[in-house]
Amino acid sequence: MKKKIFKYYLLLILIILSVTVIFIPKVSRKFYTQEVENKLEGIAFSIEYYLLNEAKNGEIDFDFIAKDYAAKYNQNSTFQGESLRITFISYDGKVLGDSDANFNQMENHLSRKEIQDALKGNVGKDIRSSKTLKLDLLYMAIPVEELNVIARVSVPLVQIKKINRLIWLYSILIFIMALIITVIVSLRIAGLVIRPLNDIISVSKEITNGNYSRRIKLKSKDELGQLAVHFNKMASKLERTISDLNTKKIELESIVESITNGIVAVDGNNKVILINPAAFTVFNLDADAEILGDDIENHIKNSQINSLLKDAIQKNKPLEAEVAIDGRVLLVNASPIRPKDSDIDNSGGIVFIQDITKVRKLEQIRTEFVSNVTHELKTPITSIRGFIETLKNGAMNNPVVAERFLEIIDIEAERLHELINDILLLSEIETKLKDTNLEIFDLKSMVDDVFKVMQNIAKEKKISLNNNVRDEVLMKANINRMKQLIMNLVDNGIKYNVQNGSVSVDGYREDGKVVISVKDTGIGIPSAHIPRIFERFYRVDKGRSRGMGGTGLGLSIVKHIVNLYNGEIKVNSVVGEGTEFIVKIPCQP
Ligand code: ADP
Repeated sequence: MKKKIFKYYLLLILIILSVTVIFIPKVSRKFYTQEVENKLEGIAFSIEYYLLNEAKNGEIDFDFIAKDYAAKYNQNSTFQGESLRITFISYDGKVLGDSDANFNQMENHLSRKEIQDALKGNVGKDIRSSKTLKLDLLYMAIPVEELNVIARVSVPLVQIKKINRLIWLYSILIFIMALIITVIVSLRIAGLVIRPLNDIISVSKEITNGNYSRRIKLKSKDELGQLAVHFNKMASKLERTISDLNTKKIELESIVESITNGIVAVDGNNKVILINPAAFTVFNLDADAEILGDDIENHIKNSQINSLLKDAIQKNKPLEAEVAIDGRVLLVNASPIRPKDSDIDNSGGIVFIQDITKVRKLEQIRTEFVSNVTHELKTPITSIRGFIETLKNGAMNNPVVAERFLEIIDIEAERLHELINDILLLSEIETKLKDTNLEIFDLKSMVDDVFKVMQNIAKEKKISLNNNVRDEVLMKANINRMKQLIMNLVDNGIKYNVQNGSVSVDGYREDGKVVISVKDTGIGIPSAHIPRIFERFYRVDKGRSRGMGGTGLGLSIVKHIVNLYNGEIKVNSVVGEGTEFIVKIPCQP
Protein backbone atom coordinates (compact mmCIF):
# COMPACT_ATOMS: atom_id res chain seq x y z
CA MET A 1 0.00 0.00 0.00
CA LYS A 2 2.79 2.38 1.00
CA LYS A 3 4.67 1.49 -2.19
CA LYS A 4 1.52 1.95 -4.24
CA ILE A 5 0.79 5.40 -2.85
CA PHE A 6 4.45 6.37 -3.31
CA LYS A 7 4.47 5.07 -6.89
CA TYR A 8 1.28 6.86 -7.91
CA TYR A 9 2.34 10.06 -6.24
CA LEU A 10 5.75 9.94 -7.91
CA LEU A 11 4.19 9.18 -11.30
CA LEU A 12 1.84 12.12 -10.95
CA ILE A 13 4.65 14.50 -10.05
CA LEU A 14 6.75 13.20 -12.95
CA ILE A 15 3.92 13.77 -15.40
CA ILE A 16 3.43 17.34 -14.15
CA LEU A 17 7.19 17.96 -14.32
CA SER A 18 7.51 16.47 -17.81
CA VAL A 19 4.62 18.53 -19.09
CA THR A 20 6.19 21.63 -17.54
CA VAL A 21 9.64 20.89 -18.97
CA ILE A 22 8.18 20.31 -22.45
CA PHE A 23 6.06 23.44 -22.49
CA ILE A 24 8.39 25.94 -20.81
CA PRO A 25 10.88 26.11 -23.79
CA LYS A 26 8.01 26.52 -26.23
CA VAL A 27 6.40 29.27 -24.23
CA SER A 28 9.79 30.97 -23.67
CA ARG A 29 10.60 30.84 -27.38
CA LYS A 30 7.25 32.30 -28.16
CA PHE A 31 7.78 35.16 -25.74
CA TYR A 32 11.28 35.83 -27.07
CA THR A 33 10.14 35.80 -30.73
CA GLN A 34 7.27 38.10 -29.85
CA GLU A 35 9.66 40.51 -28.19
CA VAL A 36 12.04 40.49 -31.18
CA GLU A 37 9.08 40.95 -33.54
CA ASN A 38 7.91 44.02 -31.59
CA LYS A 39 11.43 45.43 -31.67
CA LEU A 40 11.83 44.81 -35.41
CA GLU A 41 8.43 46.32 -36.13
CA GLY A 42 9.54 49.46 -34.27
CA ILE A 43 12.78 49.56 -36.25
CA ALA A 44 10.91 49.05 -39.53
CA PHE A 45 8.62 51.98 -38.81
CA SER A 46 11.49 54.24 -37.75
CA ILE A 47 13.26 53.31 -41.07
CA GLU A 48 10.07 54.19 -42.95
CA TYR A 49 10.03 57.52 -41.20
CA TYR A 50 13.74 58.02 -42.02
CA LEU A 51 13.14 57.14 -45.67
CA LEU A 52 10.25 59.55 -46.00
CA ASN A 53 12.41 62.30 -44.49
CA GLU A 54 15.26 61.51 -46.90
CA ALA A 55 12.79 61.55 -49.79
CA LYS A 56 12.07 65.18 -49.11
CA ASN A 57 15.75 65.98 -49.87
CA GLY A 58 15.69 64.38 -53.34
CA GLU A 59 16.73 61.05 -54.67
CA ILE A 60 17.29 58.23 -52.20
CA ASP A 61 20.29 55.92 -52.13
CA PHE A 62 18.60 52.88 -50.69
CA ASP A 63 21.78 50.85 -50.48
CA PHE A 64 23.62 53.61 -48.61
CA ILE A 65 20.75 54.14 -46.18
CA ALA A 66 20.52 50.38 -45.56
CA LYS A 67 24.20 50.03 -44.81
CA ASP A 68 24.43 53.30 -42.83
CA TYR A 69 21.34 52.71 -40.71
CA ALA A 70 22.29 49.08 -39.96
CA ALA A 71 25.87 50.00 -39.11
CA LYS A 72 24.75 52.70 -36.70
CA TYR A 73 22.17 50.46 -35.18
CA ASN A 74 24.50 47.47 -34.75
CA GLN A 75 27.13 49.73 -33.19
CA ASN A 76 24.74 50.69 -30.42
CA SER A 77 23.15 47.24 -30.04
CA THR A 78 23.70 45.48 -26.74
CA PHE A 79 22.86 42.03 -28.10
CA GLN A 80 25.90 40.12 -29.25
CA GLY A 81 25.56 38.48 -32.67
CA GLU A 82 22.08 39.90 -33.06
CA SER A 83 23.13 42.14 -35.98
CA LEU A 84 20.35 43.94 -37.78
CA ARG A 85 20.08 43.57 -41.54
CA ILE A 86 18.12 46.07 -43.62
CA THR A 87 16.95 45.41 -47.20
CA PHE A 88 14.91 47.70 -49.45
CA ILE A 89 12.85 45.96 -52.15
CA SER A 90 10.77 47.52 -54.87
CA TYR A 91 7.16 46.46 -55.35
CA ASP A 92 8.24 44.19 -58.26
CA GLY A 93 10.66 42.27 -56.02
CA LYS A 94 13.88 43.87 -57.14
CA VAL A 95 16.37 44.49 -54.32
CA LEU A 96 17.25 48.21 -54.14
CA GLY A 97 19.72 48.09 -51.35
CA ASP A 98 20.98 45.77 -48.61
CA SER A 99 23.05 46.37 -45.49
CA ASP A 100 24.91 43.03 -45.68
CA ALA A 101 25.29 42.12 -49.38
CA ASN A 102 25.74 43.54 -52.85
CA PHE A 103 22.13 44.26 -53.83
CA ASN A 104 22.89 43.98 -57.56
CA GLN A 105 23.74 40.32 -57.17
CA MET A 106 20.70 39.48 -55.04
CA GLU A 107 17.84 37.56 -56.57
CA ASN A 108 14.28 38.83 -56.94
CA HIS A 109 12.53 38.79 -53.56
CA LEU A 110 8.92 38.94 -54.78
CA SER A 111 8.19 35.32 -53.79
CA ARG A 112 9.23 35.82 -50.18
CA LYS A 113 6.38 35.45 -47.76
CA GLU A 114 7.02 38.66 -45.79
CA ILE A 115 7.20 40.61 -49.11
CA GLN A 116 3.91 39.15 -50.29
CA ASP A 117 2.26 40.14 -46.97
CA ALA A 118 3.76 43.66 -47.17
CA LEU A 119 2.48 44.09 -50.74
CA LYS A 120 -1.01 43.42 -49.37
CA GLY A 121 -0.51 46.42 -47.07
CA ASN A 122 0.19 44.37 -43.92
CA VAL A 123 3.24 44.01 -41.70
CA GLY A 124 4.79 40.92 -43.31
CA LYS A 125 6.82 38.54 -41.24
CA ASP A 126 8.52 35.19 -41.57
CA ILE A 127 11.04 33.02 -39.76
CA ARG A 128 13.45 31.12 -41.95
CA SER A 129 16.59 29.33 -41.13
CA SER A 130 19.79 30.41 -42.68
CA LYS A 131 22.02 27.64 -43.94
CA THR A 132 25.12 29.81 -43.79
CA LEU A 133 24.48 31.14 -40.28
CA LYS A 134 22.88 27.89 -39.09
CA LEU A 135 20.37 30.09 -37.34
CA ASP A 136 16.71 31.04 -37.56
CA LEU A 137 16.19 34.54 -38.94
CA LEU A 138 13.20 36.71 -38.30
CA TYR A 139 12.16 38.85 -41.28
CA MET A 140 9.79 41.76 -40.98
CA ALA A 141 8.62 43.87 -43.94
CA ILE A 142 6.46 46.97 -44.18
CA PRO A 143 5.36 48.82 -47.34
CA VAL A 144 6.45 52.43 -47.70
CA GLU A 145 3.62 53.29 -50.04
CA GLU A 146 4.74 56.87 -50.80
CA LEU A 147 7.99 55.48 -52.33
CA ASN A 148 6.59 52.14 -53.69
CA VAL A 149 9.27 50.45 -51.68
CA ILE A 150 9.24 47.72 -49.04
CA ALA A 151 11.52 48.12 -46.05
CA ARG A 152 12.58 44.78 -44.68
CA VAL A 153 14.49 44.28 -41.47
CA SER A 154 15.80 41.02 -40.13
CA VAL A 155 17.76 39.71 -37.19
CA PRO A 156 19.12 36.28 -36.43
CA LEU A 157 17.30 34.77 -33.44
CA VAL A 158 20.62 34.14 -31.69
CA GLN A 159 19.10 34.25 -28.18
CA ILE A 160 16.79 31.32 -28.90
CA LYS A 161 19.65 28.85 -28.84
CA LYS A 162 20.96 30.37 -25.64
CA ILE A 163 17.52 30.44 -24.11
CA ASN A 164 16.92 26.86 -25.17
CA ARG A 165 20.18 25.82 -23.56
CA LEU A 166 19.40 27.71 -20.37
CA ILE A 167 15.89 26.38 -20.24
CA TRP A 168 17.10 22.83 -20.67
CA LEU A 169 19.74 23.34 -18.00
CA TYR A 170 17.23 24.85 -15.56
CA SER A 171 14.65 22.25 -16.47
CA ILE A 172 17.07 19.43 -15.69
CA LEU A 173 18.07 21.12 -12.45
CA ILE A 174 14.44 21.73 -11.50
CA PHE A 175 13.63 18.18 -12.51
CA ILE A 176 16.38 16.71 -10.31
CA MET A 177 15.47 18.94 -7.37
CA ALA A 178 11.78 18.24 -7.81
CA LEU A 179 12.57 14.56 -8.03
CA ILE A 180 14.47 14.64 -4.74
CA ILE A 181 11.76 16.71 -3.06
CA THR A 182 9.10 14.46 -4.56
CA VAL A 183 10.76 11.32 -3.24
CA ILE A 184 11.05 12.81 0.26
CA VAL A 185 7.52 14.27 0.24
CA SER A 186 6.02 11.12 -1.30
CA LEU A 187 7.66 8.94 1.31
CA ARG A 188 6.47 11.24 4.07
CA ILE A 189 2.92 11.45 2.71
CA ALA A 190 2.82 7.70 2.17
CA GLY A 191 4.09 7.28 5.74
CA LEU A 192 1.50 9.69 7.10
CA VAL A 193 -1.31 7.82 5.35
CA ILE A 194 0.05 4.34 5.96
CA ARG A 195 0.91 4.59 9.68
CA PRO A 196 -2.68 5.17 10.81
CA LEU A 197 -3.85 2.57 8.30
CA ASN A 198 -1.36 0.09 9.77
CA ASP A 199 -2.68 0.98 13.25
CA ILE A 200 -6.22 0.32 12.07
CA ILE A 201 -5.17 -2.99 10.50
CA SER A 202 -3.32 -4.20 13.61
CA VAL A 203 -6.17 -3.20 15.96
CA SER A 204 -8.77 -4.83 13.72
CA LYS A 205 -6.63 -7.99 13.65
CA GLU A 206 -6.52 -8.06 17.46
CA ILE A 207 -10.29 -7.52 17.65
CA THR A 208 -10.77 -10.40 15.20
CA ASN A 209 -8.68 -12.55 17.55
CA GLY A 210 -11.04 -11.73 20.41
CA ASN A 211 -9.29 -8.79 22.10
CA TYR A 212 -12.40 -6.59 21.98
CA SER A 213 -11.00 -3.94 24.33
CA ARG A 214 -8.42 -2.69 21.77
CA ARG A 215 -8.93 0.82 20.32
CA ILE A 216 -7.17 2.96 17.69
CA LYS A 217 -5.24 5.92 19.13
CA LEU A 218 -5.50 8.52 16.36
CA LYS A 219 -6.07 12.17 17.17
CA SER A 220 -6.16 13.67 13.65
CA LYS A 221 -9.38 15.24 12.42
CA ASP A 222 -9.00 14.16 8.80
CA GLU A 223 -10.79 11.27 7.08
CA LEU A 224 -8.52 8.72 8.78
CA GLY A 225 -9.22 10.33 12.14
CA GLN A 226 -12.94 10.05 11.47
CA LEU A 227 -12.49 6.47 10.34
CA ALA A 228 -10.67 5.73 13.62
CA VAL A 229 -13.46 7.37 15.67
CA HIS A 230 -16.15 5.33 13.88
CA PHE A 231 -14.03 2.19 14.08
CA ASN A 232 -13.62 2.68 17.86
CA LYS A 233 -17.36 3.27 18.26
CA MET A 234 -18.05 0.11 16.28
CA ALA A 235 -15.53 -1.83 18.42
CA SER A 236 -17.18 -0.55 21.65
CA LYS A 237 -20.57 -1.58 20.37
CA LEU A 238 -19.19 -4.96 19.35
CA GLU A 239 -17.55 -5.40 22.76
CA ARG A 240 -20.83 -4.54 24.52
CA THR A 241 -22.86 -6.83 22.26
CA ILE A 242 -20.40 -9.72 22.67
CA SER A 243 -20.33 -9.23 26.45
CA ASP A 244 -24.16 -9.16 26.55
CA LEU A 245 -24.29 -12.27 24.38
CA ASN A 246 -21.75 -14.01 26.62
CA THR A 247 -23.72 -13.12 29.76
CA LYS A 248 -26.91 -14.35 28.14
CA LYS A 249 -25.14 -17.51 26.95
CA ILE A 250 -23.80 -18.18 30.47
CA GLU A 251 -27.23 -17.52 31.97
CA LEU A 252 -28.89 -19.81 29.45
CA GLU A 253 -26.23 -22.50 29.94
CA SER A 254 -26.59 -22.42 33.71
CA ILE A 255 -30.38 -22.55 33.42
CA VAL A 256 -30.22 -25.48 31.01
CA GLU A 257 -27.61 -27.23 33.16
CA SER A 258 -29.60 -26.79 36.34
CA ILE A 259 -32.80 -28.16 34.82
CA THR A 260 -33.34 -31.62 36.27
CA ASN A 261 -35.11 -32.84 33.16
CA GLY A 262 -33.04 -34.03 30.22
CA ILE A 263 -32.81 -31.59 27.29
CA VAL A 264 -31.35 -32.40 23.87
CA ALA A 265 -31.60 -30.03 20.88
CA VAL A 266 -30.64 -30.82 17.29
CA ASP A 267 -30.18 -28.69 14.18
CA GLY A 268 -31.77 -29.29 10.77
CA ASN A 269 -29.18 -32.01 10.05
CA ASN A 270 -30.00 -33.94 13.22
CA LYS A 271 -26.70 -32.84 14.79
CA VAL A 272 -26.75 -32.19 18.54
CA ILE A 273 -26.46 -28.47 19.34
CA LEU A 274 -27.34 -28.62 23.02
CA ILE A 275 -27.39 -31.31 25.69
CA ASN A 276 -27.63 -30.84 29.44
CA PRO A 277 -26.13 -32.97 32.26
CA ALA A 278 -29.58 -34.38 33.13
CA ALA A 279 -29.79 -35.86 29.61
CA PHE A 280 -26.41 -37.54 30.14
CA THR A 281 -27.82 -39.19 33.28
CA VAL A 282 -31.14 -40.18 31.69
CA PHE A 283 -29.44 -41.90 28.74
CA ASN A 284 -26.45 -43.21 30.74
CA LEU A 285 -24.06 -41.33 28.44
CA ASP A 286 -20.33 -41.24 29.03
CA ALA A 287 -19.48 -37.88 30.63
CA ASP A 288 -16.48 -37.45 28.28
CA ALA A 289 -18.41 -38.32 25.10
CA GLU A 290 -18.14 -35.69 22.34
CA ILE A 291 -21.82 -35.37 21.57
CA LEU A 292 -22.11 -31.76 20.37
CA GLY A 293 -21.99 -31.63 16.58
CA ASP A 294 -22.55 -35.37 16.28
CA ASP A 295 -25.68 -37.14 15.02
CA ILE A 296 -28.15 -37.62 17.88
CA GLU A 297 -28.81 -41.22 16.82
CA ASN A 298 -25.17 -42.13 17.50
CA HIS A 299 -25.77 -41.46 21.19
CA ILE A 300 -29.45 -41.83 21.92
CA LYS A 301 -30.18 -45.29 20.60
CA ASN A 302 -33.90 -45.29 21.39
CA SER A 303 -35.80 -45.47 18.11
CA GLN A 304 -39.05 -44.28 19.74
CA ILE A 305 -37.45 -41.02 20.93
CA ASN A 306 -35.60 -40.47 17.65
CA SER A 307 -38.68 -40.96 15.49
CA LEU A 308 -40.76 -38.78 17.84
CA LEU A 309 -38.26 -35.96 17.35
CA LYS A 310 -38.19 -36.48 13.58
CA ASP A 311 -42.00 -36.48 13.44
CA ALA A 312 -42.19 -33.29 15.50
CA ILE A 313 -39.76 -31.55 13.14
CA GLN A 314 -41.46 -32.89 10.03
CA LYS A 315 -45.01 -32.12 11.15
CA ASN A 316 -43.84 -28.86 12.75
CA LYS A 317 -45.81 -29.47 15.93
CA PRO A 318 -44.98 -30.61 19.47
CA LEU A 319 -45.44 -34.32 20.20
CA GLU A 320 -45.44 -36.27 23.45
CA ALA A 321 -44.88 -39.91 24.29
CA GLU A 322 -44.16 -42.15 27.25
CA VAL A 323 -41.10 -44.29 26.63
CA ALA A 324 -39.94 -47.23 28.75
CA ILE A 325 -36.16 -47.60 29.00
CA ASP A 326 -34.34 -50.01 31.35
CA GLY A 327 -37.29 -50.30 33.72
CA ARG A 328 -37.78 -46.54 33.83
CA VAL A 329 -40.69 -44.58 32.46
CA LEU A 330 -39.72 -41.42 30.54
CA LEU A 331 -42.11 -38.71 29.45
CA VAL A 332 -40.66 -37.35 26.18
CA ASN A 333 -41.79 -34.02 24.71
CA ALA A 334 -40.41 -33.27 21.23
CA SER A 335 -40.88 -29.84 19.64
CA PRO A 336 -39.63 -28.19 16.46
CA ILE A 337 -37.32 -25.22 16.94
CA ARG A 338 -38.69 -22.22 15.12
CA PRO A 339 -35.98 -19.57 14.93
CA LYS A 340 -37.32 -16.05 15.44
CA ASP A 341 -37.29 -13.72 12.42
CA SER A 342 -36.32 -16.56 10.13
CA ASP A 343 -37.74 -17.58 6.80
CA ILE A 344 -37.09 -21.20 7.60
CA ASP A 345 -40.13 -22.90 9.14
CA ASN A 346 -38.07 -24.98 11.51
CA SER A 347 -34.40 -25.66 11.57
CA GLY A 348 -34.27 -28.42 14.14
CA GLY A 349 -35.92 -29.78 17.20
CA ILE A 350 -35.67 -30.16 20.95
CA VAL A 351 -36.61 -33.00 23.28
CA PHE A 352 -37.42 -32.66 26.97
CA ILE A 353 -37.12 -35.89 28.90
CA GLN A 354 -38.75 -36.28 32.28
CA ASP A 355 -38.17 -39.38 34.37
CA ILE A 356 -41.66 -40.16 35.63
CA THR A 357 -40.85 -43.61 37.01
CA LYS A 358 -41.51 -42.44 40.59
CA VAL A 359 -44.74 -40.71 39.60
CA ARG A 360 -45.98 -43.79 37.82
CA LYS A 361 -44.94 -45.98 40.79
CA LEU A 362 -46.76 -43.68 43.22
CA GLU A 363 -49.81 -43.78 40.99
CA GLN A 364 -49.60 -47.55 40.99
CA ILE A 365 -49.19 -47.62 44.79
CA ARG A 366 -52.22 -45.35 45.15
CA THR A 367 -54.31 -47.50 42.84
CA GLU A 368 -53.25 -50.59 44.75
CA PHE A 369 -53.97 -48.80 48.04
CA VAL A 370 -57.47 -47.85 46.94
CA SER A 371 -58.23 -51.38 45.80
CA ASN A 372 -56.71 -52.76 49.04
CA VAL A 373 -58.73 -50.36 51.20
CA THR A 374 -61.87 -51.28 49.28
CA HIS A 375 -61.10 -54.91 49.76
CA GLU A 376 -60.28 -54.50 53.47
CA LEU A 377 -63.51 -52.55 54.06
CA LYS A 378 -65.57 -54.95 52.03
CA THR A 379 -64.72 -57.99 54.22
CA PRO A 380 -66.08 -56.71 57.57
CA ILE A 381 -69.02 -54.94 55.88
CA THR A 382 -70.02 -58.13 54.05
CA SER A 383 -69.68 -60.02 57.30
CA ILE A 384 -71.80 -57.45 59.23
CA ARG A 385 -74.47 -57.42 56.51
CA GLY A 386 -74.55 -61.23 56.44
CA PHE A 387 -75.07 -61.52 60.21
CA ILE A 388 -77.72 -58.77 60.23
CA GLU A 389 -79.54 -60.59 57.42
CA THR A 390 -79.38 -63.87 59.37
CA LEU A 391 -80.67 -62.11 62.49
CA LYS A 392 -83.52 -60.58 60.49
CA ASN A 393 -84.38 -63.93 59.03
CA GLY A 394 -85.13 -65.40 62.47
CA ALA A 395 -81.87 -65.84 64.33
CA MET A 396 -82.93 -62.80 66.37
CA ASN A 397 -85.49 -65.03 68.07
CA ASN A 398 -82.78 -67.31 69.40
CA PRO A 399 -81.15 -65.20 72.16
CA VAL A 400 -77.98 -67.34 72.38
CA VAL A 401 -77.35 -67.24 68.64
CA ALA A 402 -78.40 -63.59 68.45
CA GLU A 403 -75.93 -62.59 71.16
CA ARG A 404 -73.09 -64.49 69.42
CA PHE A 405 -73.97 -62.84 66.12
CA LEU A 406 -74.16 -59.39 67.70
CA GLU A 407 -70.74 -60.00 69.28
CA ILE A 408 -69.33 -60.88 65.86
CA ILE A 409 -70.96 -57.78 64.36
CA ASP A 410 -69.39 -55.75 67.17
CA ILE A 411 -65.95 -57.24 66.48
CA GLU A 412 -66.31 -56.55 62.73
CA ALA A 413 -67.51 -52.99 63.42
CA GLU A 414 -64.52 -52.50 65.73
CA ARG A 415 -62.27 -53.76 62.93
CA LEU A 416 -63.84 -51.31 60.55
CA HIS A 417 -63.31 -48.56 63.08
CA GLU A 418 -59.66 -49.55 63.55
CA LEU A 419 -59.13 -49.74 59.81
CA ILE A 420 -60.62 -46.34 59.15
CA ASN A 421 -58.63 -44.86 62.04
CA ASP A 422 -55.41 -46.32 60.67
CA ILE A 423 -56.16 -45.09 57.14
CA LEU A 424 -56.90 -41.59 58.43
CA LEU A 425 -53.76 -41.63 60.60
CA LEU A 426 -51.64 -42.81 57.70
CA SER A 427 -52.94 -40.16 55.34
CA GLU A 428 -52.42 -37.50 58.05
CA ILE A 429 -48.75 -38.51 58.54
CA GLU A 430 -48.19 -38.88 54.80
CA THR A 431 -49.26 -35.34 54.02
CA LYS A 432 -47.02 -33.87 56.72
CA LEU A 433 -43.46 -32.74 56.02
CA LYS A 434 -42.71 -32.02 59.68
CA ASP A 435 -44.48 -33.02 62.84
CA THR A 436 -46.26 -30.46 65.04
CA ASN A 437 -47.00 -30.14 68.77
CA LEU A 438 -43.47 -31.06 69.80
CA GLU A 439 -42.80 -31.36 73.53
CA ILE A 440 -40.07 -32.73 75.73
CA PHE A 441 -40.96 -35.93 77.55
CA ASP A 442 -39.28 -38.79 79.33
CA LEU A 443 -39.20 -41.93 77.20
CA LYS A 444 -39.42 -44.38 80.09
CA SER A 445 -42.57 -42.80 81.53
CA MET A 446 -44.10 -42.62 78.06
CA VAL A 447 -43.48 -46.38 77.56
CA ASP A 448 -45.07 -46.99 80.98
CA ASP A 449 -48.19 -45.17 79.74
CA VAL A 450 -48.26 -47.34 76.59
CA PHE A 451 -47.90 -50.51 78.69
CA LYS A 452 -50.85 -49.44 80.84
CA VAL A 453 -53.04 -49.43 77.71
CA MET A 454 -51.61 -52.74 76.44
CA GLN A 455 -51.54 -54.49 79.81
CA ASN A 456 -54.91 -56.22 79.46
CA ILE A 457 -54.28 -57.62 75.99
CA ALA A 458 -50.84 -58.80 77.12
CA LYS A 459 -52.28 -60.47 80.18
CA GLU A 460 -54.91 -62.23 78.07
CA LYS A 461 -52.12 -63.79 76.06
CA LYS A 462 -49.87 -64.36 79.08
CA ILE A 463 -47.20 -62.09 77.66
CA SER A 464 -45.03 -60.08 79.97
CA LEU A 465 -44.14 -56.49 79.10
CA ASN A 466 -40.73 -55.14 80.17
CA ASN A 467 -39.83 -51.48 80.21
CA ASN A 468 -36.03 -51.45 80.03
CA VAL A 469 -35.76 -47.83 78.86
CA ARG A 470 -32.82 -46.12 80.59
CA ASP A 471 -33.49 -43.32 83.01
CA GLU A 472 -33.72 -39.77 81.83
CA VAL A 473 -33.89 -40.41 78.13
CA LEU A 474 -35.56 -37.17 77.14
CA MET A 475 -37.10 -36.71 73.73
CA LYS A 476 -38.48 -33.67 71.96
CA ALA A 477 -41.28 -34.92 69.71
CA ASN A 478 -45.02 -35.20 69.34
CA ILE A 479 -45.69 -37.53 72.31
CA ASN A 480 -48.88 -39.00 70.85
CA ARG A 481 -47.05 -39.85 67.63
CA MET A 482 -44.28 -41.60 69.57
CA LYS A 483 -46.88 -43.44 71.67
CA GLN A 484 -48.54 -44.60 68.45
CA LEU A 485 -45.18 -45.85 67.13
CA ILE A 486 -44.34 -47.83 70.29
CA MET A 487 -47.92 -49.02 70.65
CA ASN A 488 -47.98 -50.48 67.13
CA LEU A 489 -44.65 -52.27 67.66
CA VAL A 490 -45.62 -53.57 71.13
CA ASP A 491 -49.05 -54.60 69.76
CA ASN A 492 -47.33 -56.64 67.01
CA GLY A 493 -44.93 -58.07 69.65
CA ILE A 494 -47.96 -59.32 71.59
CA LYS A 495 -49.98 -60.41 68.54
CA TYR A 496 -47.23 -62.44 66.91
CA ASN A 497 -45.95 -63.95 70.17
CA VAL A 498 -46.25 -67.28 71.87
CA GLN A 499 -47.76 -68.04 75.27
CA ASN A 500 -45.58 -66.92 78.19
CA GLY A 501 -43.53 -64.88 75.83
CA SER A 502 -42.39 -61.38 76.46
CA VAL A 503 -42.09 -57.97 74.81
CA SER A 504 -39.25 -55.76 76.00
CA VAL A 505 -38.77 -52.10 75.18
CA ASP A 506 -35.35 -50.56 75.54
CA GLY A 507 -34.42 -46.94 75.00
CA TYR A 508 -31.20 -44.94 75.15
CA ARG A 509 -29.30 -42.10 73.51
CA GLU A 510 -26.57 -42.74 70.97
CA ASP A 511 -24.77 -40.21 68.71
CA GLY A 512 -27.44 -37.55 69.13
CA LYS A 513 -30.20 -40.03 68.37
CA VAL A 514 -32.77 -41.71 70.54
CA VAL A 515 -32.64 -45.47 69.97
CA ILE A 516 -35.81 -47.44 70.76
CA SER A 517 -35.80 -51.23 70.59
CA VAL A 518 -38.96 -53.34 70.76
CA LYS A 519 -38.03 -57.00 71.11
CA ASP A 520 -40.35 -59.96 71.37
CA THR A 521 -39.94 -63.68 71.82
CA GLY A 522 -42.56 -64.42 69.16
CA ILE A 523 -42.89 -66.35 65.92
CA GLY A 524 -40.41 -64.27 63.99
CA ILE A 525 -40.63 -63.13 60.35
CA PRO A 526 -39.23 -65.22 57.47
CA SER A 527 -36.41 -63.20 55.90
CA ALA A 528 -38.07 -63.22 52.45
CA HIS A 529 -40.95 -61.18 53.87
CA ILE A 530 -38.88 -58.65 55.80
CA PRO A 531 -38.36 -56.19 52.87
CA ARG A 532 -42.12 -55.93 52.35
CA ILE A 533 -43.57 -55.82 55.87
CA PHE A 534 -43.68 -52.00 55.89
CA GLU A 535 -45.90 -51.92 52.80
CA ARG A 536 -49.54 -51.06 53.35
CA PHE A 537 -51.75 -54.11 53.95
CA TYR A 538 -48.80 -56.46 53.66
CA ARG A 539 -49.17 -59.41 55.94
CA VAL A 540 -46.94 -62.48 56.31
CA ASP A 541 -49.82 -64.64 57.40
CA LYS A 542 -53.08 -63.04 56.29
CA GLY A 543 -55.34 -65.35 58.29
CA ARG A 544 -53.41 -64.91 61.54
CA SER A 545 -53.18 -61.14 61.13
CA ARG A 546 -56.90 -60.75 60.47
CA GLY A 547 -57.71 -63.18 63.28
CA MET A 548 -55.68 -60.97 65.61
CA GLY A 549 -57.61 -57.91 64.43
CA GLY A 550 -54.65 -56.54 62.50
CA THR A 551 -55.33 -53.96 59.78
CA GLY A 552 -52.09 -54.53 57.89
CA LEU A 553 -51.26 -50.85 58.33
CA GLY A 554 -49.48 -50.89 61.71
CA LEU A 555 -45.89 -51.11 60.44
CA SER A 556 -46.67 -48.76 57.54
CA ILE A 557 -47.74 -46.14 60.11
CA VAL A 558 -44.54 -46.82 62.13
CA LYS A 559 -42.39 -46.35 59.02
CA HIS A 560 -44.10 -43.08 58.11
CA ILE A 561 -43.66 -41.70 61.67
CA VAL A 562 -39.94 -42.61 61.52
CA ASN A 563 -39.66 -40.86 58.12
CA LEU A 564 -41.43 -37.78 59.51
CA TYR A 565 -38.57 -37.49 62.04
CA ASN A 566 -35.86 -38.36 59.47
CA GLY A 567 -35.11 -41.49 61.43
CA GLU A 568 -34.40 -45.06 60.46
CA ILE A 569 -35.89 -48.44 61.28
CA LYS A 570 -34.26 -51.88 61.25
CA VAL A 571 -35.64 -55.36 61.77
CA ASN A 572 -33.78 -58.34 63.18
CA SER A 573 -35.86 -61.47 63.19
CA VAL A 574 -35.34 -65.20 63.59
CA VAL A 575 -38.28 -67.47 62.83
CA GLY A 576 -39.36 -69.27 66.02
CA GLU A 577 -37.20 -67.09 68.25
CA GLY A 578 -38.50 -63.60 67.98
CA THR A 579 -38.24 -60.21 66.34
CA GLU A 580 -36.55 -56.94 67.25
CA PHE A 581 -37.48 -53.58 65.73
CA ILE A 582 -34.81 -50.91 66.26
CA VAL A 583 -35.85 -47.31 65.66
CA LYS A 584 -33.30 -44.47 65.61
CA ILE A 585 -34.60 -40.93 65.72
CA PRO A 586 -32.34 -37.86 65.49
CA CYS A 587 -33.74 -35.88 68.33
CA GLN A 588 -32.95 -33.18 70.89
CA PRO A 589 -32.39 -32.56 73.71
P1 ADP B 1 -50.88 -56.17 61.01
O1 ADP B 1 -51.99 -55.28 61.29
O2 ADP B 1 -51.19 -57.29 60.12
O3 ADP B 1 -50.10 -56.54 62.18
P2 ADP B 1 -48.52 -54.68 60.41
O4 ADP B 1 -48.28 -53.69 59.38
O5 ADP B 1 -48.44 -54.20 61.80
O6 ADP B 1 -49.93 -55.27 60.09
O7 ADP B 1 -47.56 -55.84 60.19
C1 ADP B 1 -47.39 -56.39 58.91
C2 ADP B 1 -47.06 -57.84 59.00
O8 ADP B 1 -45.75 -58.06 59.53
C3 ADP B 1 -47.93 -58.59 59.94
O9 ADP B 1 -49.11 -59.05 59.28
C4 ADP B 1 -47.07 -59.73 60.38
O10 ADP B 1 -47.20 -60.82 59.50
C5 ADP B 1 -45.67 -59.19 60.34
N1 ADP B 1 -45.20 -58.77 61.69
C6 ADP B 1 -45.23 -57.53 62.19
N2 ADP B 1 -44.67 -57.48 63.42
C7 ADP B 1 -44.29 -58.75 63.71
C8 ADP B 1 -43.67 -59.37 64.83
N3 ADP B 1 -43.31 -58.68 65.90
N4 ADP B 1 -43.43 -60.70 64.76
C9 ADP B 1 -43.76 -61.39 63.68
N5 ADP B 1 -44.36 -60.90 62.60
C10 ADP B 1 -44.63 -59.57 62.59
